[in-house]
Amino acid sequence: EHEDVGYSVDLFPAKDGILLRITDITQLKRYERSKKEFIANVSHELKTPITIIKSILETLIEEEQDEKKKNMLERALRRSEDMKSLVEDLLIITKLESGEEKLGKESVNLWEVVELVFDDIMEMAQDKKVQLINRVDKSFKVYADQEKLTLLLLNLVDNGVKYNKMNGEVVVNAYIQDTYAVIEVSDTGIGIPKEHLPFVFERFYRVDSSRSKEVGGTGLGLSIVKHIALSHGGKVQVESKEGEGSRFRVFLPLK
Ligand code: ADP
Repeated sequence: EHEDVGYSVDLFPAKDGILLRITDITQLKRYERSKKEFIANVSHELKTPITIIKSILETLIEEEQDEKKKNMLERALRRSEDMKSLVEDLLIITKLESGEEKLGKESVNLWEVVELVFDDIMEMAQDKKVQLINRVDKSFKVYADQEKLTLLLLNLVDNGVKYNKMNGEVVVNAYIQDTYAVIEVSDTGIGIPKEHLPFVFERFYRVDSSRSKEVGGTGLGLSIVKHIALSHGGKVQVESKEGEGSRFRVFLPLK
């Protein structure tokens, strides 16, 4: 009953009955585990030095009189901020993957969560003159871990703004379909080319590194979204048209 010992079982139809194949995947499981532990440890070890570098740079920027040097320090600060988000996202992913964090599912008022998420993104949205619209019914409830649900929506709405055009909009909507509560985040942004759609939920995947680089990001946001949906027993879908916008749907099982 050791968690590192594992077997996978496959069944095949055969001429005179059923063929049973048992594969020893112990080595594979051990490898996967040590890989995850390594990522978790490195991310953890990087957190403190990055925080220190950031605060040193902030102090130097404040005191620097020379415009050219100030500019260089500001560039270094932005890169260390990118590093910080990367490390934070990696830590979130490893925690989600390890499954050691239990979900605290409860009945959550979605409209309220969306409002909180909008508050967080407001400034960035105003810079781009992107309108944030909450179309969720005020009484709509989802059965979810509130903190994880907030993180999921934060990533989707953040992307909706980041990859939007000036004066665009991001709309959040929700409805019941079969046994699921469906949350929709739609934007009027640049869209995702069809050939990239199957991969956007993969770790580190970024559609076009030149266009994505301008806006910054780690390529981990959507894989966090997917992980959270899956850990709730749900799923995610995306639909998009290049130049017109994207619609992400998150399906969460009803209680
Ligand atoms: P990133 O940190 O790059 O935003 P994500 O995992 O959140 O990483 O997204 C992966 C890629 O999918 C992005 O780099 C971007 O190219 C594309 N993408 C995600 N959301 C949208 C969106 N709403 N509109 C257009 N492209 C998007």
